[in-house]
Amino acid sequence: MSELLDDAAARAGRYLAALDARTVSPAPAALAALAGFERAFPEHSTSAAAVLAELDEIGSPATMASAGGRFFGFVIGGALPVTVAANWLATAWDQNAGLVVTAPANAALEAIALHWMREIFQLPAQCAGGFVTCATTANFSALAAARHALLRRAGWDAEAQGLFGAPPLTVVVGEEVHASVQKALGMVGLGRDRVLRVPVDAQGRMRLDAFPAVNERTIVCVQAGNVNTGACDPIAQICERARAQRAWVHVDGAFGLWAAAAPARAHLVRGLEQADSWATDAHKWLNVPYDSGLVFTRDADALRAAMSIGGAYLSQQEQRVPYHYTPDFSRRARGVEVWAALRQLGRQGLADLIERTCGHAGRFAAELQRAGHRVLNDVVLNQVLVCFGSAQRTQEVIARVQREGTCWCGGTIWQGHTAMRISVSSWATTESDVERSLAAILRAAAD
Ligand SMILES: *Cc1c(COP(=O)(O)O)cnc(C)c1O
Repeated sequence: MSELLDDAAARAGRYLAALDARTVSPAPAALAALAGFERAFPEHSTSAAAVLAELDEIGSPATMASAGGRFFGFVIGGALPVTVAANWLATAWDQNAGLVVTAPANAALEAIALHWMREIFQLPAQCAGGFVTCATTANFSALAAARHALLRRAGWDAEAQGLFGAPPLTVVVGEEVHASVQKALGMVGLGRDRVLRVPVDAQGRMRLDAFPAVNERTIVCVQAGNVNTGACDPIAQICERARAQRAWVHVDGAFGLWAAAAPARAHLVRGLEQADSWATDAHKWLNVPYDSGLVFTRDADALRAAMSIGGAYLSQQEQRVPYHYTPDFSRRARGVEVWAALRQLGRQGLADLIERTCGHAGRFAAELQRAGHRVLNDVVLNQVLVCFGSAQRTQEVIARVQREGTCWCGGTIWQGHTAMRISVSSWATTESDVERSLAAILRAAAD
């Protein structure tokens, strides 16, 4: 075992060290070579070392270099070295993290990490949290808790009775709601389409002057960090209105919630602690390996009621049992890397990570604008939208940038405009990565 792990470490080390010199997207030849994996299900066993070698030789070249410093697609963070190492150790532990009895170390680390995150986001002390796979599952879990709480007030037990015949709930979202919230609404039975959509401003923020009347049967889904612009809804004002009517406010803050950790950006998410539930990712801006999302609810009982297994839910016991807070029962020890990232970074390091990546985004925007290209958004966080003329020309530039391989940026459509989106979410991005990437983008746009 020890030799095998040494081999894996050596291969991983070589892989990471080589990222700087290779194209960010895999070479077409590497993708074609994936055919080398194809074989009939083997009749006989093979040595573990041979399996690892095959995985590395065929698999490694066919990866997207998103662990490096010049991947700016979607909103994808890298993985801090301490989190990769912690992940390896925790994988060797092979704990079932659903229970305390089967994974005491993970349970302790989750409790500590939750405590720290309540402090980072300034969430109420009594709020509960769960370690889930991603922000989509976090949105799902939070909405299930909201559904429970609002229907319980109306004398209906959503978990026991289901939704057929239940008093209807109204869901309010912004016109720029993330698709994952819509998916989550579908999964919890609230419906993707039976929502009130609030018009938004040019940055994608809900317009307060168009905000509807809400009541104690309303769930309002606000956004901290629009996936295109990085803009945040006016959370404080919305919470104020919602709370006065006992509506439930859910914050989708997949990456934007982390703005709270950087003193110069925290004003963007001001008032978030007034909400009732929050969804965020650790695999985006906290830079832990996939998969890692987080859900928090002010009403701890509501999350437990929605997530507990086996009928009656348990109120808080002496010790927090992880599986009462997530859709899954058996799962990996996801809390380990979240703890390791926070333990290593500390308050200053986390603030620096957020601020530094926002700074890189600001530099991209400024230099592209200086070169005469149109930046579509106010670059308040780590997201930049840039146009290179017509939709067709912008798409051509994106394709050239991706093909050339110095960096990788994706395309999007923002309020009718085709744009290239640059998301700086990785700890690994340096000033020099920004310079090299800018040069490559400007070359592609000049051709
Ligand atoms: C990325 C993102 C999500 C979905 O996150 P996953 O971790 O991919 O499920 C949800 N909302 C927003 C605003 C996002 O940026």
